[in-house]
Amino acid sequence: MTSFVDSHCHINFPELYQNIDSILSKMSCNKVNTYPHIFASVGVHPDYEDIEEPSVEELCRFAKEKKVVAIGETGLDYFKVQGDLSWQRDRFRTHIKAAIQSNLPLIIHTRNAAEDTLKIMREEGANHVGGVMHCFTEALDVALEAIKLNFYISFSGIVTFKNATDLKEVVKAIPLDRILIETDSPYLAPVPYRGKINDPSNVIHVAEEIAKLKNISVEEVGEVTTQNFFKLFSKCRPSN
Ligand SMILES: [Zn+2]
Ligand SMILES: [Zn+2]
Repeated sequence: MTSFVDSHCHINFPELYQNIDSILSKMSCNKVNTYPHIFASVGVHPDYEDIEEPSVEELCRFAKEKKVVAIGETGLDYFKVQGDLSWQRDRFRTHIKAAIQSNLPLIIHTRNAAEDTLKIMREEGANHVGGVMHCFTEALDVALEAIKLNFYISFSGIVTFKNATDLKEVVKAIPLDRILIETDSPYLAPVPYRGKINDPSNVIHVAEEIAKLKNISVEEVGEVTTQNFFKLFSKCRPSN
């Protein structure tokens, strides 16, 4: 039976956590893997400036927890935050170092900062652990460059939006075996729930859109993106 994995959500945020029971049952109705198949990652988001800066050692210490399968989300965001962003680039480097030291993949957030993101990924050797460019909204050449660096490309509900024409072309152009699907919930609800509180059960609508764009069945999208997920986040594998 086909199932779907939401590769990225914020289930600990109040919008979702307050209704966790109903969300978990909605998820199983939509064949989205549920608890105990929920895993965590460790990182400090690039949008938070006034926060205690994490060290490589600290990140590595938390990364040892049993259900932690990745480092992130980390990365660069020149859209939400402005000014001298050298702190953001330093924080990103810290996360990449921690991922390499912990031997865990990276979850990378990039917005209006593709060039610097790829540059730092290269300089710090992010290809050694690989990871995912989450909630991808950049151009095709950025996706191809990230794939070259051993990264997967994860699409969120944005890909279902009518005006996301360039992003739909990226889906068509990159191979299915490098694609993950996600909700980034509670944000970015896909069509037909746009503007509402999003939750992981909606990842099925992202899968449907990718199936349409690639002219394949939604089952195939579910199967391959699930395989991709377990290949990347190997600590989630049932054998572990
Ligand atoms: Zn993000
Ligand atoms: Zn996120």
